[in-house]
Amino acid sequence: MTDGTRLNKYLAQAGVASRRRADELIAQGRVRVNGRVTRELGTIVAPGDRVDVSGTAVEPAAEYVYLVLHKPVGVVTTLRDPQRRRTVADLLPKGPRVVPVGRLDYDTAGVLLLTNDGELANRLLHPRFGVEKVYRATIAGRLDDDDVRRLREGVLLDRGERAAGVPVRVVAVRRDYSVVDVTLHEGRNRQVRRMFEALDHRVSALVRLRFGPIALGDLPAGRVRPLGDKERAALRRIGQSSK
Ligand code: URA
Repeated sequence: MTDGTRLNKYLAQAGVASRRRADELIAQGRVRVNGRVTRELGTIVAPGDRVDVSGTAVEPAAEYVYLVLHKPVGVVTTLRDPQRRRTVADLLPKGPRVVPVGRLDYDTAGVLLLTNDGELANRLLHPRFGVEKVYRATIAGRLDDDDVRRLREGVLLDRGERAAGVPVRVVAVRRDYSVVDVTLHEGRNRQVRRMFEALDHRVSALVRLRFGPIALGDLPAGRVRPLGDKERAALRRIGQSSK
């Protein structure tokens, strides 16, 4: 046994990035331990060691913070945007640095978790745990029975990828638009939009209503709230963590 921590785990616990992304940062030579660049993925950080990422000292958080943001449309899910668009960081209260758990498109609204608990973020994003996400899509045109059947059976997306079949709840069908809830366990890039595009329906609005046990509820767009104890406990149960 060692009383040190693997460098990628240390960086995840510090909220810098997921373990996988931390490995990339290490391989890119952006991480220093006690002033020396290390590219060794197995590096162990001992208590008292100093770790810098791109010149900034980092250390695991003394206290974990878990927030849910109702991300509005027109905001990018990053902390800094080279194109200077509005980012989720602009909507956060002052406090410990947190990172988004996954991402929503610029044009998508809804539940976005943010935390400095990199280990938990890592688990929530890992395909093995298939965290359930519920999206409400407003689409152009009438959704018909065949569309619903195809969504439930799995749709062939562009680029030859196949989306797994999903539970579908039809909320409204009107002459020129429909509203439908879909529940995904996967997280391919722009998956919901691409699923409906495959059925020739353009998505005109997309809102994530739920991420695992965390529901949007009546949180107004652009607002943030801390998770409650029960929500935190429910998140931690994902992946059977003992933390
Ligand atoms: N699916 C999408 O198409 N966009 C998102 O932002 C999330 C899921």
